Amino acid sequence: MRSAFQIVNEIVEAIDHAPRPAVPRVTSAATYVRRMVVLWFVGFVALGLITFACYESGFDGTTTHCVFLVAVVMLSFADSVISSLVFCAVATLLIDYFFAQPVLSFHLRDSADVPSLISFVVASLIITALVRRMQVLSDVRRDQAKLLDLSRDAVIVRNMDGVVLYWNQGAADLFGWTSNEAVGQISQTLLGTRFPTPFEEVNSALLRTGKWEGELVHTKRDGAEVVMSSRWYLHCDDSGRPLATLENGNDIGVRKRAEDALRCSQAAFLAEAQSLSLTGSFGWDIRSGEVYWSNQTFHIFEYELDVSPTFDLILQRVHPDDRERLEQTIEQMIHSIAKVDFECRLLMSDGRVKFVRAVVRASTVEGDDQHYIGAVMDITAARKAETQLQDAQNELARVTRATTLGELSSTIAHEVNQPLNGIVIDSEAGLRWLKRPAPNICEASACLERVVENARRAAQIIKRIRALATKGVAQVVPLELDDVVNDVVSLTQREVASYRASMRVNLEPALPPLLGDRVQLQQVLINLVMNGIQAMDAISDRPRDLLIESWLDEAGNIAFAVRDSGTGIRAELEGRLFEAFFSTKPRGMGMGLSVCRSIIHAHGGQICAFNNEVHGATFQCSLPPLESHYDLNHDRTGHAAQ
Ligand code: ADP
Repeated sequence: MRSAFQIVNEIVEAIDHAPRPAVPRVTSAATYVRRMVVLWFVGFVALGLITFACYESGFDGTTTHCVFLVAVVMLSFADSVISSLVFCAVATLLIDYFFAQPVLSFHLRDSADVPSLISFVVASLIITALVRRMQVLSDVRRDQAKLLDLSRDAVIVRNMDGVVLYWNQGAADLFGWTSNEAVGQISQTLLGTRFPTPFEEVNSALLRTGKWEGELVHTKRDGAEVVMSSRWYLHCDDSGRPLATLENGNDIGVRKRAEDALRCSQAAFLAEAQSLSLTGSFGWDIRSGEVYWSNQTFHIFEYELDVSPTFDLILQRVHPDDRERLEQTIEQMIHSIAKVDFECRLLMSDGRVKFVRAVVRASTVEGDDQHYIGAVMDITAARKAETQLQDAQNELARVTRATTLGELSSTIAHEVNQPLNGIVIDSEAGLRWLKRPAPNICEASACLERVVENARRAAQIIKRIRALATKGVAQVVPLELDDVVNDVVSLTQREVASYRASMRVNLEPALPPLLGDRVQLQQVLINLVMNGIQAMDAISDRPRDLLIESWLDEAGNIAFAVRDSGTGIRAELEGRLFEAFFSTKPRGMGMGLSVCRSIIHAHGGQICAFNNEVHGATFQCSLPPLESHYDLNHDRTGHAAQ
């Protein structure tokens, strides 16, 4: 029958955790010699006393041999082979001297005593060797068991009936029962073990594969429950018959609690961060229709937290004007697009409008199984700020336009006066043709036609000037750059002439249309033209030439420039031209170029200034063509974000 120690030892070896043989105890040579002297002294005294006792008692040979054999074996326990051999030799000599005939002599009279003495020597050596071997094995096993006790894991060995054979210190510390109390008990009963699956399944997996791993709940001596990560190993004999199970486990309750706490704190941080950034998150399983919203998402859509989220609830909040676009985007996302970046408005129940931006991407796409995750951001504040900024810019632009109009007043007066004069002249001529004795209807109607034409021209001019002077919200429409340039030329030509400058126009034919606000782009050109002629005012040694030209640049953008032959830009001022309130003119506001830049940027374009090779400066702008806006819109609604 195997002992518990043997089984533990074998199992430990079987699972590759076999502790190494006990490390020989290290003792100093002096201590060792001292011990040997004491041992040998005690041994010789003991053998002397035994000799005396046997001699006095008159024991026969066999009894004496047995007594000496026991004494030698006992003494052999205390030390090494050398001591065993010494005690064996001394005992043999004592037997020969005191008990073999003739007594008190080392001679052997009876030849039958020789085998008897040899048998004693052989028997004592064999038994001593065996006993020593058993002792070493026992030491090794005890040390191995001690090693298992060092483990902080609980190590329990059970026989196939579940009875505990071995219970290490880790198990004692964890569960509260000592090894003496636990050994011999049925472990499942003692620990009230709860398995993740029925025990039969655990047991059959163990018998089939030789091991099992899982989480168990045990009840400790004090009644508290402990969650263990447990590994079971089956130990079989050489014929494969199961003998015992070793359970090795550690308490993961602490780790689990720490993980739970971490998860809770992470969730709290996430919720805080979502609330700070006004960003909610959501998940959507299209197949099952399951929807998940974070608390912030409920908050953005203004639903109570106990409402179960659905896609319809989102649709109910989306502004009616944006609903169709959202549905189309989702439709496209489901069919072909992995990622969507979408902006829309929400109409809340009290009539408030919110702006939200949602970024959604597919999380897993396996067959029909589509799951999307996304983030939704409340960008109302940013949109409002943008609108306010836009309003402020529009107002600033209007004020600077009004200022420019003031500068252009003589031109405007002339522009309006011209057709009015024409009207007066043609009306008078028409009257004269009618008042003739034979009224000339044909001439009169020709005069009236010119009147109508001039009146139309005047109305057109007034309309253009009114557009420049009134506040008006930016109206972005498809435009031809040529039309804008022609308007500006007719508005400024008199002003140009008053500066004794000449204005030439060199426009690229058939430029693609652009998307913009006509009045704002006129304002940009008027500013550049006015600045150009003012920069040429002090020039007297060369012609004052102003050139407006346009072309299609390498990037496919519509470019235009106003080139003058004026003073040029002083190097130290180059970086400051577009700053607000920067002016080198005595009565300048310094807002013209700053407004030009914000208008061009709002149109998605660029503006820059540089000196010409010989004289003067060039102010150059580029604007994206109309079709690029369509591409951009396409992108912004996310339809192309694969
Ligand atoms: P303002 O015309 O009221 O001075 P702007 O913003 O239009 O304001 O112009 C800022 C400054 O840029 C001008 O004062 C001038 O120094 C410089 N500048 C503008 N256009 C030209 C140009 N064509 N040539 C040289 N300098 C220019």
